[in-house]
Amino acid sequence: MGTASTARCRDCNHDFEVAEGPGMFCHVLHCDQCYAVRFVGFEEIEAVHLALEDTGGDPYEAPTRAHEGGGTEVERRYDALVEEAAGACACGGCFRFAAQVRCPSCRRTEIAIVGECLLFD
Ligand SMILES: [Zn+2]
Ligand SMILES: [Zn+2]
Repeated sequence: MGTASTARCRDCNHDFEVAEGPGMFCHVLHCDQCYAVRFVGFEEIEAVHLALEDTGGDPYEAPTRAHEGGGTEVERRYDALVEEAAGACACGGCFRFAAQVRCPSCRRTEIAIVGECLLFD
């Protein structure tokens, strides 16, 4: 289940929505250069997804495990394959699981969650 929350920039007080995944049907990746968000639907990465599940991997846990330095080789590769499928951002940056959320107004990363967390599939 993913979450959508209202965040406030600590620098310019701009309020904006932050989505974090994974949802039931998509991964949520952020651009590493700007504030863009890319929802990668599981149907877009079906082959990658099935390959992971074939080896007993869990597409919901794989990104987390890989970031913590754990997981199987397939799980560690999964992140890279999903990021590759996400393509490049219009700004020239890359969509990454590990990219920090940025303020759309000033692009800084110092943000605070101020609003309700809504769940999405
Ligand atoms: Zn970008
Ligand atoms: Zn800001």
